[in-house]
This record gives sequence, structure tokens and C-alpha cells, in this order.
Amino acid sequence: MTRLEQELGAELAQLEGDGLRRSLRVISGAHGARVDHCGRELIMMSSNNYLGLAADLRLRSAAIAATAGYGVGAGASRLIAGNLEPVHRLELQLAAFKRTEAALVFGSGYLANLGTITALAGPRDAIFSDELNHASLIDGCRLAKSSLNIYRHGDVPHLRSLLERTPSAGRRIIVTDSVFSMDGDFAPLREIAAVAQEFGAAVVIDEAHAVGVVGPRGAGLAAQLGLEQVIDVQIGTLSKAIGAYGAYVAGSKVLIDFLVNRARSFIYTTGLPPAIAAAAAAAVEIISMEPERIRRLWDNAGYLRTHLVAAGFQVGRSESPILPLMIGDACAAVAMATKLLDRGVFVTAIRPPTVAPGTARLRLTPTSEHSRADLDATVAALIAAGRELGLIA
Ligand SMILES: *Cc1c(COP(=O)(O)O)cnc(C)c1O
Repeated sequence: MTRLEQELGAELAQLEGDGLRRSLRVISGAHGARVDHCGRELIMMSSNNYLGLAADLRLRSAAIAATAGYGVGAGASRLIAGNLEPVHRLELQLAAFKRTEAALVFGSGYLANLGTITALAGPRDAIFSDELNHASLIDGCRLAKSSLNIYRHGDVPHLRSLLERTPSAGRRIIVTDSVFSMDGDFAPLREIAAVAQEFGAAVVIDEAHAVGVVGPRGAGLAAQLGLEQVIDVQIGTLSKAIGAYGAYVAGSKVLIDFLVNRARSFIYTTGLPPAIAAAAAAAVEIISMEPERIRRLWDNAGYLRTHLVAAGFQVGRSESPILPLMIGDACAAVAMATKLLDRGVFVTAIRPPTVAPGTARLRLTPTSEHSRADLDATVAALIAAGRELGLIA
């Protein structure tokens, strides 16, 4: 073993001992309400495929048709090798969907957040960031080298006091998830927008778990609150409810033109494959045409939540289909996930550093495509496993 291997092996052993080691599990076949894992059919309760579109036949057909017409790869950065039509059309469609002047597609939500924040904020600027923001927003803030002010989760008075304390050297930017990815609660966007207006700050929101899930036509939390024209930058991913891959930034024409010129994670990376852009476009259309999917998603989430609470589980402050089943200890969360796997339910233990130490949880995400039988079987498995581990009476 080389020295490097020894050192890395020791770190992994430490993670293992702390219940924090992560590993990959192979899925065979399509991603749906049920998945095939090692020859067993499991109820999938850990994906963000909220509307069951990831394997929808219409998305597959759109991807196949785009591949037939345009090939597989985009060739190079869109600024260098040209902008493929399916991507261009998707951007027009996303701007209409979000009711903004323009939209720009990125390679992923991670890249969109990194590129947008670093384009908008530099060393002379100040960022105000919710303490529970997604890792990609946190990394964007770190990379921006701005003065970084972290406010307590959803705490607008705290945000306001930080804004008061930070003289406006340059630009001031408030950054927040709209639906928080690990707790499922909503950011107080209306109050944040009001404080931003008062201090002349810009607002960047990440609608990763809101698009296709929350608001009229699934257009997100800003749309639900009528804030589309007030929030400066709306970021969302194409990989969750939309079922494909990539991400978008929606906002004013000048914002989008600026990002094309300044967002390094847009400029210095290859464009999205045409198949993926076409699949995402098909999904956005389906979401508009089949609003019953969103209704089924919320019905399923409500049903699951009611039965989990009745069984004595704590589901935290979630207001969305993200149901965090709070456990606390990382090893206990892993033990619970293992027992669920044995009982036919695929749920992953969410542990530090994804969440704060001592707040490990199982994050359940029902989709519109789960049947009542799937949900009942999930609850039964959770109750049995929870009793075995002494988590519930
Ligand atoms: C998943 C997620 C992202 C990253 O999106 P990808 O397209 O998967 O890279 C960004 N922000 C939030 C809040 C997320 O949950």
C-alpha cells in the first residue's frame, strides 16, 4: 500500500466508525416509484423524481429524437462551438414557464449556483446566506471571496441586523434555498424580499425543490407568492421534478447577458447534451399539461406525513413533500436505513456534513407515482424497524 492509500484508508475507517461512511448502491433499470436493486424490487423513497418524469416514455422519446437529429455531444462550450437549437428552445420555454424575461441553462444546479454567485459577488461585496443553504450555494459563497454573513435559518430579524451592520461597500446579495432540501420547509421569501428592497440588496433563490412541486403550474415558491418580478435571480434544477439533468437561471435579460459573459461555470464547460435539453423541455410541457401529477404528489406526501406522525415519528418542520424523519445519531440512522432495505424500502440515511451533527435523519420523498400500497408498505416497514431500534414505542 502506498502512503497515500494508507492515509486515505485510515480516514475512511474513521468515517466508518462514526457512522459517516458513504457508498454507492447500484440500481438496474429505470428510476421510478420502485427500483431494482440487486435483483430485488424496492420502493424508492429517496429520490427527487417528484413527478415520476425521470423515466417517462415521452422524455425518453424526446431524448432519442434529439440524439437522432443532433448527435450526443455538444462539441464544446456554447460560446465557442455554437448554441444547439434544443438548448436555445429550452431557454425560451423556461423563461415563459418562470414568467421572466430570459433564462440560461447550466450543466447542473451545482454549476449554476457556483457560477451565478461568483459572477454577481466579488471581494468588495457582501453575501447574506441562510445557515441551512444547500452545499452548492455555500461553495459559491466561499468561492466568491465576498464578506460572508450567515443568518440563522429563516430568521429575517437576524438577516436585517446583519444588513444593518454591514456597510454597503459594494453589492449586497441575499442567498437562500426557497424550499430547504433537507428539512422541506419554506424560506420566508416575502419578508426577505421586503428587507432586500429596504437595504438595496439583490436576492438569489434556489428553487431546486420547488420547481414542479410548489406554486401555480409548479413554477416555484416565488411564483406562488407573486414575487417573480421582485426576486432578482431564480435558480432551479432540471434534475429533480423535471426528471432530466442540468439547471437554469431565470431573471432579467440583462442578468442573463451578464452571466453569459461572467459566469465561469457557464463559460468554461461544455454545453448540455441535446438529448437532455429535449427531455427537459418535454417535462416542462408535461408539468403544464398534467397538473394532476402535482396534486398526487402532495396527496401522497400528506398521507405519508399523517401516518408517520400517528406512528410517533418526528417529521420536523417540513411544509413540502420532503419528509425528514428525525433520528439524531448517525449510526442509528444507518441502522434504520439498513433495516428498511431488508424490508424492501430504499431510504438513505442523511448524515453530517449534509446536515448538522446530531441531526441525522431519513429523508423520505414520496412521488406522484407511488401507490397507496407503496406508502402503506413504507409506513409498516418504518414502524417495524423503528420499534426494533427503540425509536418509537
Ligand atoms: C440538488 C440541489 C442542487 C444541485 O442541483 P443539481 O442539478 O443536482 O446539481 C442545488 N440546490 C439545491 C437546493 C439542491 O437541492
